[in-house]
Amino acid sequence: MTDSSHHPFTPPPELLDALSSARRPLLIAHISPDGDAIGSLTALGYLLYRMGKDPILACQDKAPATFNFLPFYDRIVQNVDSERPDLVISLDSSDPTRMGGIYEEERFGDLPLIVIDHHVTNVYFGDINWVDPQCVATDQMIYYLTKALNEPLDETLATALLTGIVTDTRGFRTYNVTPAVMHVTGELIDAGAPLAMITERTLDTRSMALITLWGRALDTVELADGVISAMNTLAMRKDLGGIIRAEGLVSFILSAQEAKIAAVFTEMPDGKVECSFRARRGYDVSQIALNLGGGGHPPAAGCTVEGEIHAVRRMVVEMLKEEAKKKK
Ligand code: 5GP
Ligand code: MN
Repeated sequence: MTDSSHHPFTPPPELLDALSSARRPLLIAHISPDGDAIGSLTALGYLLYRMGKDPILACQDKAPATFNFLPFYDRIVQNVDSERPDLVISLDSSDPTRMGGIYEEERFGDLPLIVIDHHVTNVYFGDINWVDPQCVATDQMIYYLTKALNEPLDETLATALLTGIVTDTRGFRTYNVTPAVMHVTGELIDAGAPLAMITERTLDTRSMALITLWGRALDTVELADGVISAMNTLAMRKDLGGIIRAEGLVSFILSAQEAKIAAVFTEMPDGKVECSFRARRGYDVSQIALNLGGGGHPPAAGCTVEGEIHAVRRMVVEMLKEEAKKKK
């Protein structure tokens, strides 16, 4: 096991060595992929391909069509049934369960596993772990990796790199956005990344089904003691053509002036409830998510809890109220 005690923003040398000697690396983005999962998957996949390697890009769940402008979007597989890889790289995942069904221990357990991630709740489950919670996105880390490999940026790579930075910062609105992030962003735009197009496609485009679901979920909104929450039930979305998550809703309800912490509870067909948390500056939802078997960042985290949705909401909201009480 290695740690991140090297200089910040620099990948550990053994990671560079492992990448250089790999011929067919298997890249895995996390389940229910977001812009940073798909952005870092396609950025690293494209970079390694450009370096003459034969990467496999994998994600258990289908990448949303929102991201179909990214390189190799069409090459992302949901099953690895091709030639055996010689290295495994986990992207944007804080624990091994986030890799979902792609990481089959019996098939890939003997291969070296590299973890590249920016979650503060990362459990260091790789043989080589490059974990940097100071980075706003795993994509920001892949930018530093590109530099460390002395590889040039091009428009395609820059577009994939900027996507995760834009989505994980919600368009540069989160308080972890530093001058360093803006500097990287400037370089990516210089290399041809279309910032306005990425922002419009990933943050400002929604299906009518999603807007309808937001409306129904907003009917359940409640605010008490600084915690605002809403439910997304199976019944609410049964006529909405397969949509599951009320994407973006949790950030929206946090905009209530009285709210310190927001939560959206999504009822799943398997009897579980997906919980999505957001916190204003000074409050930390990552540890509550971690305690409930999930993970994330201080201002944005999540977990999946077994139980009936109303009961889960009641129980979890009480935990969130404790955090919202903390005088900031
Ligand atoms: P979202 O609310 O957008 O689904 O997730 C917010 C953050 O929490 C993301 O960084 C995501 O990776 C993390 N997260 C959400 N759900 C889970 C979960 O079930 N397990 C873990 N480990 N992290 C989660
Ligand atoms: Mn991320």
